[in-house]
Amino acid sequence: MDRRALLKSLVAAPFGAALVGCTTRTTSAPTAAPTSAAASLSSSTVVAHPAALASSHKKTGALRVLCVGAHPDDPECGCGGTLARLSKAGHDVTILYVTRGENESGGRSFNENGKIRTREAETACKILGVAPRFLGMRGGECEITPRWRKTMTAVFDELTPDLVFAQWPLDTNPDHQIAAMLAVQAYLEKSMQNPLYFFEVETGRQTMGFEPHVYVEIGEVLRIKNDAIMAHVSQSPKHMYEVHHEPMERFRAREIGGVAAEAFAMIPGTLSTGFLPGL
Ligand SMILES: [Zn+2]
Repeated sequence: MDRRALLKSLVAAPFGAALVGCTTRTTSAPTAAPTSAAASLSSSTVVAHPAALASSHKKTGALRVLCVGAHPDDPECGCGGTLARLSKAGHDVTILYVTRGENESGGRSFNENGKIRTREAETACKILGVAPRFLGMRGGECEITPRWRKTMTAVFDELTPDLVFAQWPLDTNPDHQIAAMLAVQAYLEKSMQNPLYFFEVETGRQTMGFEPHVYVEIGEVLRIKNDAIMAHVSQSPKHMYEVHHEPMERFRAREIGGVAAEAFAMIPGTLSTGFLPGL
């Protein structure tokens, strides 16, 4: 099976779940029986999907994965574990930082801060095993314009991602909102049939109204994720992790009975629910 055929079969999976070794929370019966590998991940409240995917990919070619985040540290905090797992499984993962986080400066100039945060992002990506890329907007000045829509679409054209991760758009930080919507616009403009997964950051303080559909266990790569977050030295990463993201990992793990987990929401309509009980 070639890469495109593999993707097609993944998207056709129950609820469109296509993440490696992931679990999908559901309130209705699954439309297909889990494989034996997936069955080992099952619990009474979670439906697991083919964990055998990772070995399939090695035989059939790497998937191209694009993760879009507003600032250096957003993708690492929101889905660094999942990206590390995808990279370890042999897939080509790119993080696209919409800005270099120049505005979160601690008193430094925009340019100086941009340089520092670029270096930190590059180090974090190296730790995760992914490729960094920068869209070119400045932190704190994000805006949706025809020019930036075109720039984002050009990245999608070039990378032709099989899986897209984007920041959840309902967020207290305007840069997060705009980075998310630029990704969504490019995704919809390309009429992509492949899944898009929204990730959360500092839920309750930044991400708002987030209702996940897909969970990924990240216990095996927790050290890698933690090291990647700690690479953002200028952002008080220990505080950022211990106060915000470690509790989120634990809470998401509690929802699926795991050790540490990241959770994702999908665009409504890509889920194959399609009915209400009793109607
Ligand atoms: Zn941010």
